[in-house]
Amino acid sequence: MSTNKYSAAVVNYAPVKGAVELREITKPEIGEQDVLLEVANVGVCGSDLHQWTADHSWQVNYPVVLGHEFGGVVIETGKAVTEWKLGDRVVSETAAIINPNNPLTKAGFYNLDPDRKGFGYGVNGAMTKWVRVPARCLHRIPDHLAFEEACLTEPCSVAYNAVVGNSVIHPGDRVLVLGPGTIGILCGAIARLCGAEVAILGLEADKHRLAIAKSYGCEPLIADAKDWAMDRDRLGADCIIDASGSSATLKIALDLVRPMGQITKVGWGRQPFGFSLDPLVQKNITLRGSFSHHWTIWEKVIELISSGRLDVKLITGGIWPISEWKEAFEKMHSGEIVKSVLKP
Ligand SMILES: [Zn+2]
Repeated sequence: MSTNKYSAAVVNYAPVKGAVELREITKPEIGEQDVLLEVANVGVCGSDLHQWTADHSWQVNYPVVLGHEFGGVVIETGKAVTEWKLGDRVVSETAAIINPNNPLTKAGFYNLDPDRKGFGYGVNGAMTKWVRVPARCLHRIPDHLAFEEACLTEPCSVAYNAVVGNSVIHPGDRVLVLGPGTIGILCGAIARLCGAEVAILGLEADKHRLAIAKSYGCEPLIADAKDWAMDRDRLGADCIIDASGSSATLKIALDLVRPMGQITKVGWGRQPFGFSLDPLVQKNITLRGSFSHHWTIWEKVIELISSGRLDVKLITGGIWPISEWKEAFEKMHSGEIVKSVLKP
């Protein structure tokens, strides 16, 4: 087999635990509106881990190449693509398939189009050498910005949307983040950029990850956030960002948010919860979900990363070749590191 037609890919092949393996796949054909990217780096996301352990709550189009946090170089352009040329350095958004006629898409909120399908579950993702990408997904990155940083534009955009798009944070506010995973830590970092005082709540086992949260100027808290949340005037935190990946933590958020405060939920957790929502009413709380991101957010985040104001190097625990995907997944899954990055 010729090496310029096949490449190794991290493939998720069935809805059972551990159904991920390295497979040879053929170079994708591109359509008129697409480009072919040679992948430079791809971040491992919590959702890749969830598909690996088969405890995800979304529909997966098996078999599928994992990976939706990526950047690379344009090596082919479709006939109708005029704005990109070979050699362009880019990162790609995740909404690989959208319905252009959906009213939300027309309004620019294609991330909320119910027909949207993303890389790594709906279509083949980027944990391989080449990935086919619709040209509308691309964003140019500055020459000085390394791909191993640029590939983390996606999780930063998730956090930016939760903190800036779907919460209202003023300088001097107290923001409590639940869950010191990638998204939680990045939410904390962005809330700091907004001028808030920030604490991040984790468990004893999260010590490593909480230390990284501290390097972003967030106060690490283990197991209990009540004293911190009530510290100023006994009323609670202005905003709680729930990035914990559990439904049950909403109870902590309801307890620790101040009257008239906000709770923004960005972490997934498919277990139902069993407690009263009365505090939501009594405290007049704004509870909001935050999902994904869109064009404008990506441009802002690329600016923050490339100017150095948002340093993603702090969360990156290492870079592994694609062939060692399993070690990269395991280190992240165990919480030993916050973020793994792969290199095809
Ligand atoms: Zn992700």
